[in-house]
Amino acid sequence: MNEGAQEPVADSATGSPRVAVLRPFIAFVLVAGLACLALTAFAQVTGPWSSVGMECYLLAAMLFVGELRAIPVPRGDDTTDQITVSSTFATALVLIGPLSLALAVQALAVFLDDAIHHRARRIMLFNVGQYLLTLSAARLAFALVDHRPIFALTTHLRPEDIPAGLVAGAVYFAVNNGLVALVVSLNTGLSMIEVLSDDVRFQLATSSILLGLAPVAAHAGEFSVLMLPLLLLPILGVHRNAEMALTRAREALHDDLTGLPNRELLRRRAERALTGLDGSGQSMAIMLFDLDHFKEINDTLGHHVGDQVIREVAGRLTSGLGPGASVARLGGDEFAVLLPDVEDASAAQALARSLIERLREPVTVDGVRMGVQASVGIALAPQHADSVETLLKRADIALYRAKSNRGETQVYRPEIDRHTVERLSLLGDLHSAIENDEFVLVFQPQICAHTGEVLSVEALTRWLHPRHGLVSPDLFIPLAENSGLIGPLSRWGIERALAELSRWRASGHDFSVAVNISARLLTDLDLPEFIAETLTLHEIPASRLTVEVTESTIMADPKRALDILGRLRRTGISLAVDDFGTGYSSLSYLRRIEADELKIDKSFVLQMGLDDNSAIIVRSTVELGHSLGLAVTAEGVEDLPTLEALRALGCDRLQGFYLSPPLSASAFETWLRKRPTTFDQVLITLEGGAE
Ligand code: C2E
Ligand code: CA
Ligand code: CA
Repeated sequence: MNEGAQEPVADSATGSPRVAVLRPFIAFVLVAGLACLALTAFAQVTGPWSSVGMECYLLAAMLFVGELRAIPVPRGDDTTDQITVSSTFATALVLIGPLSLALAVQALAVFLDDAIHHRARRIMLFNVGQYLLTLSAARLAFALVDHRPIFALTTHLRPEDIPAGLVAGAVYFAVNNGLVALVVSLNTGLSMIEVLSDDVRFQLATSSILLGLAPVAAHAGEFSVLMLPLLLLPILGVHRNAEMALTRAREALHDDLTGLPNRELLRRRAERALTGLDGSGQSMAIMLFDLDHFKEINDTLGHHVGDQVIREVAGRLTSGLGPGASVARLGGDEFAVLLPDVEDASAAQALARSLIERLREPVTVDGVRMGVQASVGIALAPQHADSVETLLKRADIALYRAKSNRGETQVYRPEIDRHTVERLSLLGDLHSAIENDEFVLVFQPQICAHTGEVLSVEALTRWLHPRHGLVSPDLFIPLAENSGLIGPLSRWGIERALAELSRWRASGHDFSVAVNISARLLTDLDLPEFIAETLTLHEIPASRLTVEVTESTIMADPKRALDILGRLRRTGISLAVDDFGTGYSSLSYLRRIEADELKIDKSFVLQMGLDDNSAIIVRSTVELGHSLGLAVTAEGVEDLPTLEALRALGCDRLQGFYLSPPLSASAFETWLRKRPTTFDQVLITLEGGAE
């Protein structure tokens, strides 16, 4: 029933005691099988072959064809077993015809089938021997139960022989599956019981039908040769059924778009890999991949381009892996790679990096060239988890960290899990941080793309935590937002920024200052008044203050945001839409908030040189901004080529590390003073362009 061994009887564990037994075992099966063939041929060759009817030859022919047309049977995972319809005809022939004929044809068919499928020689030899033994055992069982001569050339089947025929079928099933399970267990190290119970579970139903049909086939053949072809009908039914079951099983475990395994299948495979870790010191790893900026690709270029990118990523990940490893698509732009056998964390990380490199190779979809960036979180078992569930969770935590650090790959560490605990303690500390003067402002200049002069400085908040050191605003701003502290924190920031600006104004500078306003603050109805008072206090004209709000901030509650922004506008301050391109914004809101400036999100600017898609987004944002009468600022300018490209695109303002990182107030003052000398190079390029 069992098509026999199909996986290469591998050398994976060469040297282990299991494998030492494997070769002699295969040799034994082959020799024993051939001995059965020889013995039977010797006993039957001089028999009255003229008494052998047409039906026996027809059964032999059907056995032959059936062996070459296997029925696929889905297993619980994505592997398929094959069941051969030859079992019906082989068993029927064993019951009523010459055993030597059955053995010879079966051996030939198996040999041919394995040759066609290029199976390894060892597998071929094992399968030949295994089938010879299976058929011989079935005949022996029939002869013993039914008190028939074992080597009789023909046997007439009577109604009372049916139980013996069924016993022969059962013996066929048992010997066939037993031998295959034994060799698989020797090869893989799984216990015999495990392999057997798996086989029986997936094959019992189909096998019972096929073997139960054997006495029917035998009897029908004896009745009339013409009856035999009719038997093909139910067998074809079984065949079709099996194929449908296979398709369904495939669909349930695979992703439609890419054909890759889905989350469920990944889990099952991981489960298997986990049980396979037998304390040998090897590890398994799960690497979670998340594409950066996939949403923008989808939003700007359409789903059909997004789909093609996903397929391309699937292909690249798959072709970048060695045997044994598998790729799954978990949904959206998230992929997982399972490494069932990996040396250690750094080996996994090296592989993840090479895969990231592969993805970065520009892909051309619909004439647009783009590089795909990915972040990867990695977790290993047994180091980080003893269950697949935990392993996935920890890989996810690592991924989260990789994304927020843009660190690309991150191996799980318990410290990053403690992150949540850390957040809690930070939250406690946040309350006293303002009174304790733990916040500072840093300033980053925005430069005119045409003249090189400083138009504005963006004030960015830093938290100098007494124990944790410098805490990133990406961490404490959300905390402050969720704990009601964003109001006091922002007021402190606005106050400080305007105070510094008034000092710089006093020494002759006339640039603006920009402050970031978070979503929560836009619900604060007293904000416009506070800002107006602070401006007056420091004698700063409203036009010298810019408020930066993100698209998503506006879209969270557009009505309220429009109201407050409208009131801010009326005091005369400027509005900038920050991180433009990362959220959903609607043109109509953009018009209605009467912004003065669009800030292209740094993620696009950083990627401009690498991928066409980002360059297109930058170009169209510049055009969009200009058509709405807005100044367009690019943040994240890290190098000269980007700076020049932005100028060529007509971008108005530039901000980024290449020009200056965010600096403390005093460092910024030094920068301002020294600028003509240290920024010669930039100035020369800037002056070289058209005004
Ligand atoms: P943002 O408003 O987009 O600020 C720009 C961020 O880009 C800053 O990060 C800045 O340091 C960084 N940056 C500037 N030039 C470059 C460059 O060339 N390359 C790269 N890779 N990065 C560059 P930072 O200071 O960590 O601030 C992160 C975010 O936290 C800010 O993003 C802003 O949304 C928020 N934030 C900072 N301070 C405040 C604040 O006082 N209030 C509020 N509500 N949000 C703030
Ligand atoms: Ca900003
Ligand atoms: Ca930004």
